[in-house]
Amino acid sequence: KLVADRYLKREQLGEGTYGMVFKAIDTKTGKTVAIKKIRLGNYKEGVNFTALREIKLLKEIKDPNIIELIDAFPHKGNLHLVFEFMESDLEAVIRDKNIVLSPADIKSYIQMTLKGLAYCHKKWILHRDMKPNNLLIASDGQLKLADFGLARIFGSPDRKFTHQVFARWYRAPELLFGTKQYGPGVDVWAAGCIFAELLLRRPFLQGSSDIDQLGKIFAAFGTPKPTQWPEMVYFPDYVEFQYFPAPSLRSLFPMASDDALDLLSKMFTYDPKARISSQQALEHRFFSSVPPPTKPALLPRPP
Ligand code: ADP
Repeated sequence: KLVADRYLKREQLGEGTYGMVFKAIDTKTGKTVAIKKIRLGNYKEGVNFTALREIKLLKEIKDPNIIELIDAFPHKGNLHLVFEFMESDLEAVIRDKNIVLSPADIKSYIQMTLKGLAYCHKKWILHRDMKPNNLLIASDGQLKLADFGLARIFGSPDRKFTHQVFARWYRAPELLFGTKQYGPGVDVWAAGCIFAELLLRRPFLQGSSDIDQLGKIFAAFGTPKPTQWPEMVYFPDYVEFQYFPAPSLRSLFPMASDDALDLLSKMFTYDPKARISSQQALEHRFFSSVPPPTKPALLPRPP
C-alpha cells in the first residue's frame, strides 16, 4: 500500500520536534526518502493553507547545502514533508571519538554550513533552530541544513520536549532576552556555537536554563556593556547580570588558528547589527588561508 500513491513506507527513523520521521521508498524515482509527519490538529483551518503556501516557497529552495524538500501533501490529518534521505548528521561526527577532525575538515564542515545559511538568508528565510543534529550529511559527504523555515511556519519548537533543551545551547543572546524582532544573526550565532563545538568536540556553552545560558555566554565573552549593545536593555526579558570580564578567546580555543579565532569572535558579536553576516563570514580570510577545506567526499564520517 502506497502513501499518496507514491511512497512505500519503511521503518520509523525518529521522533522530531514536529512529529515522527519515517524512511520510505519513492516509487517514482526509486530513491530512499525521509518523510516527516507533522500533526496539524492544533491548527485552525486557515493556518493549514498558510502553511501549505509557505511550504511551496520552501520547495523553491534548491542549494547543494540545503536538504531538498521533494514533496509535501496532507494525508489523514497530517502534513507530510518528503525529504532526500541522509546517511548521518554532524552530531554523530562530533560525538564519534574514533573520528579525528583536522583543521581542514572543520573548515569544510563550517564552510558548507555557512554556504547553506547564506543561500537562505539571501532569500530572507531564517532557520532559527540550528544545531548539529539538524546538519545532515549526504552519502557524497555534502553537509545539508535540515528543517529550514519550519520554525516560522509551525511556530518555534515546543521547549517542553526534553530532546529540545539542547537547542538552547545554540541560541543567540537576543533570543534569550526575549526579542521577537530577531534576524539572520540568530543563525550566525548558532553556526558560531557549532564551529566552536567542532573545535572542542563538545557543546561549547551548555546552559541548564535560559538564564544560565546567558550566564555561560557572558562568562565566555564578558558581560556586554550598553555601549557595546545599546538595544540590549530594552529587550522584554532583559535582566542585569553580574559583571564578568572577557577572557581571551585564545584561552578557550588553544588549538585554533588566529584566523579561526578572528572569525569566531565576529560570529559571537553581541549586537546582532554588528555581527558578521553568513555571506561576510564566507568571505573571511579563514576560508582562503591554508589549509584549504577538505573536499566533501574525503571528509571523515561515522561507519
Ligand atoms: P529534531 O526536530 O529533533 O531536530 P527531526 O524531526 O529533524 O528531529 O528528525 C528526527 C529524526 O529523524 C532525526 O534524529 C533523524 O535521525 C531522522 N531524520 C530526519 N530527517 C532525516 C533525513 N532527511 N534523512 C534521514 N533521517 C532523517
